[in-house]
Amino acid sequence: MTNNIPSLSDKALLNILAHTKEATAIYVTEEFHIGFINKSMLKLWNKPNTVINQRLVEAAPEFESFIPVLKEVWENGEPYTAIYAPANIDIQGQLITLYFDFECRSVLDENGKTYAIVNTVTDVTERVKALELVKAKKDQEQALNEELTSINEEQEEAIENLRSTNVELEYAQSQLRLSNDRLMENEDRIRGMFEESPVGMCILRGPEHIIEIANKSILKIWGRKEKDVLGKPHKIARPELTGQPVYQWLEEVYKTGITRINNEFRVMLYNEDSLREAYVNSIYQPIKSAGGDVNGVLVILDEITDMIKARHEVMCTQDMLNMAVEAGELGTFYYNPATNLFSGNDLLKSWFGLKSNDMLSLKLALDAIAEADQNTVLEAVNKSLTYASGGNYGIEYTIIDPVLNISRIVRAKGKTIFNQNQEPISLIGTLQDITEQKQDDQRKNDFIGMVSHELKTPLTSLNSYIQILHAKAKKDEDSFAAGALDKANKQVRKMITMINGFLNVSRLESGKIHIDKQRFDIAQLLKEAEEESTIIIISHKVVFAPVAETFVNADRDKIGQVINNLISNAVKYSSPGTTIQVACVAINNMVNVSVKDEGMGIGKKDIKKLFERYYRAEEQHTHAIAGFGIGLYLCSEIIQRHEGIIGVDSEMGKGSRFYFGLPISNVF
Ligand code: ADP
Repeated sequence: MTNNIPSLSDKALLNILAHTKEATAIYVTEEFHIGFINKSMLKLWNKPNTVINQRLVEAAPEFESFIPVLKEVWENGEPYTAIYAPANIDIQGQLITLYFDFECRSVLDENGKTYAIVNTVTDVTERVKALELVKAKKDQEQALNEELTSINEEQEEAIENLRSTNVELEYAQSQLRLSNDRLMENEDRIRGMFEESPVGMCILRGPEHIIEIANKSILKIWGRKEKDVLGKPHKIARPELTGQPVYQWLEEVYKTGITRINNEFRVMLYNEDSLREAYVNSIYQPIKSAGGDVNGVLVILDEITDMIKARHEVMCTQDMLNMAVEAGELGTFYYNPATNLFSGNDLLKSWFGLKSNDMLSLKLALDAIAEADQNTVLEAVNKSLTYASGGNYGIEYTIIDPVLNISRIVRAKGKTIFNQNQEPISLIGTLQDITEQKQDDQRKNDFIGMVSHELKTPLTSLNSYIQILHAKAKKDEDSFAAGALDKANKQVRKMITMINGFLNVSRLESGKIHIDKQRFDIAQLLKEAEEESTIIIISHKVVFAPVAETFVNADRDKIGQVINNLISNAVKYSSPGTTIQVACVAINNMVNVSVKDEGMGIGKKDIKKLFERYYRAEEQHTHAIAGFGIGLYLCSEIIQRHEGIIGVDSEMGKGSRFYFGLPISNVF
């Protein structure tokens, strides 16, 4: 078959090549003369066909860079291909880069030597541009993708943030729920507080003052039941206020929006079908909407009737007290230890030479007190300011009016008030002018003293005569006369004791009793008392308990007088045949002497006053017993002048135990 195929001449081949679409040029020398170039190549090169037989560098100097490639192909005989190779093409004097698929293939002779190079070129500029476009698009796409990715990432982050915000939101929501619950709880609590508040509260709504809520306390004050007032206009629910100013006040608060406060307002309130007088503190507070308009009134009511009534009573008592103070011509004082200032009524001030507006200080007061009394007053005031003293203040002293220069004896009585910490807050009390009373006492004492003294002389001689007559009667063995004179003697001795008592009182009152202290053994003194009583007392059994040697620093005679007085009282106020026990023991640096009887005893009300001057227990059975109530007073005065104590324990019908204590003397 092959034989049938006609062989083509070079010319014919070239003619074919000349018409192929593929641009073709053939270089036929080592200097690359263009032996053949078809139209396609010429068009591509943008050259006229005069380039034929020219050297490539001359025909198209812009392809100079291809020369080394062509040389390589010529020498090695190896084809060279390049795709998408850029080449600058001269188009109307301008070099424009176009892209070509490029192939150079050597044509060899029988010796294998190159004698021509066939250069085919395909313009792939469009394809390259298309590819570039695709690439650019791809790049753009990638950029977009990257952007998208970053947007995605941002979005993811945003979502993450959103998620965490969501968690936070959920937490916030749970907190909100919690605070909502709490709010509701609080609301319940507030409602509860409102309900249970000891202060009356209600809310009146709208211009008609409809009673919206009213707590228990206000209903109690109103004297109304909840069901009777709730939801009703205030005026209708509480008609008892007609003619009283409350309705008008509520109107005003509603209209003006200004709170109204009433203090200690007197109002007539409903009370089981009648009216009662009451005092209240009240507040009418406007309730405003969010827009600021008044839409209701909150009423707060506190009933203070009891307090006001108590105050009235206190005022009445105060008035009465003032009257009593005035009638009794009492000076009243108030002393504040913190400021050291006194205040007092006009009368008291006048005694200290002050006018009603003048301030009274402790110093001013002391200056007006007689010098001899100043320390005693100061001590008494200070003592009463101690909690241990019980706050009692009681003293008599002399004031010398600095203006009129008049001496005035006053009796001060007062009481200190202490706070919870037992600290003194104030000392309050009265001052009574007892000058006249004292002068009366003095006159009485002087009289008693004088009479006693005058009586004592004839009595002493009477006593002597009785003694003589008694001795004579005994000698004459006149037993009747001796017995009668013995009785007369006893009576005279009683009278002497009594007169001595009066004399002692008068001496005591006028300060003429002197205490002569000496150190002595009280056991010895009791021994003497025992010996004396054994001789004198035959009606009773007097038992002296053994006493150890105990020294005291005291007036021996006067302490002996006290012991004798207690023993003779025991005899006087107990039945014959009963026992009297005398004891003396030392306890805590004090020696305690006691006289115990089995007598009638003393009532509680009398015990406190027994040691007062001229006091006698008002019992039926004591009436028959002679006495003036001065013995115990003298005992008490003597013991007090020894810084001792004196007292009594007693039970009616069972007996009494009188005792006194003196400080033991350890100093030799
Ligand atoms: P007088 O005995 O002279 O009345 P006192 O001052 O000695 O005076 O006593 C005062 C009062 O105390 C007596 O009136 C009596 O009521 C009461 N009294 C004193 N001692 C006793 C006692 N031992 N038992 C009962 N009452 C007594």
